Amino acid sequence: MASLGRTEPERAYWFAISQRRSLGLLFMSHVLAAVAWPYANGPRHIGHVSGFGVPSDVFSRYMRMAGHDVLMVSGTDEHGTPIQVQADKEGVSPRELADRYNRVIVEDLHGLGLSYDLFTRTTTGNHYAVVQELFEGLHRNGYIVPKVTMGAISPSTGRTLPDRYIEGTCPICGYDSARGDQCDNCGNQLDPIDLVNPRSKINGETPEFVETEHFFLDLPGFAESLGRWLDTREGWRTNVLRFSKNLLGDLQPRAITRDLEWGVPIPLDGWRDRNDKRIYVWFDAVIGYLSASIEWARRSGDPEAWRRWWAADGEGKDATGYYFMGKDNIVFHSVIWPALLLGYSGEGDRDGTPGEMGRLNLPTEVVSSEFLTMEGRKFSSSRQVVIYVRDFLDRYDADALRYFIAVAGPESNDTDFTWSEFLRRNNDELVAGWGNLVNRSISMAAKNFGAIPPVDPAGLTEADEALLAVARTGFATVGNLIERHRQKAAIGEAMRVVAEANKYLSDQAPWKLKGEDQKARMGTILHVALQVVSDANTLLTPFLPHSAQQVHELLGGTGVHAPMPSIVQVEDLDGGPSYPVLTGDYTVGARWESTPIEAGRPLAPPKPVFRKLDPSIVDEELARLGS
Ligand SMILES: [Zn+2]
Repeated sequence: MASLGRTEPERAYWFAISQRRSLGLLFMSHVLAAVAWPYANGPRHIGHVSGFGVPSDVFSRYMRMAGHDVLMVSGTDEHGTPIQVQADKEGVSPRELADRYNRVIVEDLHGLGLSYDLFTRTTTGNHYAVVQELFEGLHRNGYIVPKVTMGAISPSTGRTLPDRYIEGTCPICGYDSARGDQCDNCGNQLDPIDLVNPRSKINGETPEFVETEHFFLDLPGFAESLGRWLDTREGWRTNVLRFSKNLLGDLQPRAITRDLEWGVPIPLDGWRDRNDKRIYVWFDAVIGYLSASIEWARRSGDPEAWRRWWAADGEGKDATGYYFMGKDNIVFHSVIWPALLLGYSGEGDRDGTPGEMGRLNLPTEVVSSEFLTMEGRKFSSSRQVVIYVRDFLDRYDADALRYFIAVAGPESNDTDFTWSEFLRRNNDELVAGWGNLVNRSISMAAKNFGAIPPVDPAGLTEADEALLAVARTGFATVGNLIERHRQKAAIGEAMRVVAEANKYLSDQAPWKLKGEDQKARMGTILHVALQVVSDANTLLTPFLPHSAQQVHELLGGTGVHAPMPSIVQVEDLDGGPSYPVLTGDYTVGARWESTPIEAGRPLAPPKPVFRKLDPSIVDEELARLGS
């Protein structure tokens, strides 16, 4: 089964990775980095990738460097009514539309250097099979129940009107733009029929409600077991934990099927072959974390390898799992996905027996970020208050954006992206701080020694020792902050090492040491500075992988320092059409430690690593924004 339909070069590619990974397995702990699935109805803007993409990549890169066996998975979320509606509008099939944006998103995430072990999609045969297995397991344990309900249809077309296209006043808090499935103001889950003054967002008409049979997830059947589990969670951001516990007081059964043709078929007799009922997109998308792990394992040549991150009673019993998303998705990761896992594992309030995959691990931590706004306004594609990842990467470097997100992103507060702040962070911090340190220390060493100079036999001064110690202790400080998802503080500490090194160079002024008798001391100062450049570069590697590779090479290093993902065209493992995935070999590259630089290693005069931006970009970019 595992080799079904694969081409030879592709098989060799996956085999090489899995061989290298298995060599290190005994030394590592297994860490799942589960990254939110972007919806494939359009290109992604920088607000999206600042919430889930870059933070999860920083975490995964650091954890690998620190010796853990990380599995970072995600993919495009491709079912549901919005894609169906947009495909109808464009006169293409939903699959064609999903194909188009799956490719765009894969290329954008690749451009940002996001190191997914597998970035796949929800329209694969593998995903369908895993979703249906979860559905059957939950159904067997009595957590999925049928119910006759009132569904909204559009009176003018007779078609089901998707929840998110129904707007009205929230019956709970009175917010006047609540969506049919959720109120963004109070966070409560809703049903369209509950809305006061419901209206279609497509054409403004009042929807009609008709009887229809659907399956519901019995969420109240998890209130106690979820509560017990949430009580054991440590280290979560307090707002996430508080929000999640509050939801437990009022859990309602939640529909998991819809009147729709586009989605995963319902795997029960009498339903399997029906063309008008499908599993609801939210139910299938959260299962993607598990199905992508299984797809990765099947491609690796060891179809059972996913158990190392998931099997609660077996190889995965000590594994940890971190879920990254924007705050509008917390409920799916802290309540609904854990409920599905508990129910399948036979551990909901009414127990049951585990399905054939066995008991599965629940999230260790739900890492939610806040929202990014753009020049004081909400991102809006329709009003052109937006910059897409692709357009950004056409005009600026990936690490410039990654730096901004790390240092000024929406980690724990809503944050505004402004072009003037982007310019300032790039020019004053990245170029004038880190870029300048790299450039002047390597230039001076190249010009005066042509190589990394040795340390003078007279030894190191107190100032030399002090700076080296600052850099060395950075590994514990920065690493610990990244592990606790405090990336803003972490990059701040790494940049503090950079600032100390710049101050050291100014204080020591090696350029003033002109005489032959002073050359040995000059060499020592530059040796110390280059050692700290090397250390700071390692500390910054999770944040700035592209420039970290360049700095590594400027220091005379060879080979891979910061591994990058590749786009690989793969065959569907179960006979469907081929598709592009993002994957890579991350077993190579720098470790999270200070690596002594070698005196005598040749140096060439450096090329600038970062581009200084002209202040005119601010007005140019603002002119592109709509009003
Ligand atoms: Zn509300």
